[in-house]
Amino acid sequence: MKAENPKASAEVVWANNNTDDASLRLWREQSRQLLLSEAKARGLQSTSPCLCGSGDRLRDCCLRPLR
Ligand SMILES: [Zn+2]
Repeated sequence: MKAENPKASAEVVWANNNTDDASLRLWREQSRQLLLSEAKARGLQSTSPCLCGSGDRLRDCCLRPLR
């Protein structure tokens, strides 16, 4: 893999809503549930700082591509 275009390589497959792959939709839904349950276990809301430590709100960070 070339690293000449970091923006292109950062395009993650699970963030691509154009895909019509059923298993990918299932994966995204399960990942979303996992993330939400982990956030709930820590007493976090969707507007709380994200679990990954980015400083953004959860819903604007890791939760966004899983919708
Ligand atoms: Zn995050």
